[in-house]
Amino acid sequence: MKKKKKCKDCECLFEPDPRHPKQKYCTREKCRKARKAQWQRNKLANDELYRQNQKDCQNRWREKNPDYWKNYRKKNPAYTAKNREKQRARNRIKRSRNKARSISTRIANMDVEGSKKSKISGRYMIIPCDGEMIANMDAVIVEINEITDICKESGHDCKDTTLFIPKS
Ligand SMILES: [Zn+2]
Repeated sequence: MKKKKKCKDCECLFEPDPRHPKQKYCTREKCRKARKAQWQRNKLANDELYRQNQKDCQNRWREKNPDYWKNYRKKNPAYTAKNREKQRARNRIKRSRNKARSISTRIANMDVEGSKKSKISGRYMIIPCDGEMIANMDAVIVEINEITDICKESGHDCKDTTLFIPKS
C-alpha cells in the first residue's frame, strides 16, 4: 500500500507522485496555486537576485501600463473600499503594537536603572492589543503602587491599591 500524505493546504490525504516523493501539496488547482505562492514567498525572502529580477519586471510592466491600477480601482470601487479598510485595520494594529513596544522598553529601562525605590510603582498606559478595539477607545492610564510603599505612607493595611485614572 502506498503511503498517503496530508496536503499542506487543504489537509486532505493524497498519494504523492512517485516521481516527487517529497510532494507536500495535493494536485487540486487551489493547492497547486498555494504551493506556487509559497515557493515564491520563500524565493523572495531568500534569493536576492530573484527579488531584484521580480522588481525590475514589475517596474517595466508598470511603465508600460501606467494607468492599470488607477483604472482597476475605478472599475472596482468595492475592491478599493475593502482594501482601504484592511489597510486601516493593519495601521491600527501597527500603531498599538508600536505604542506597547515603546512602553515596554521604558519599563525595561526603568528596571535597568535599578533604583532602590519600588520598580513597579508608577503610571502605566493600558492599551488593548486587538487593533479592532482601538477605534473609539483611548488608552487608559493606571497608577500602580507597590503595596509596601502605600502601606508605609498611609499606615493602614491595604490590599486593593490600584488606582484607575481615566485619561482626560
Ligand atoms: Zn490540497
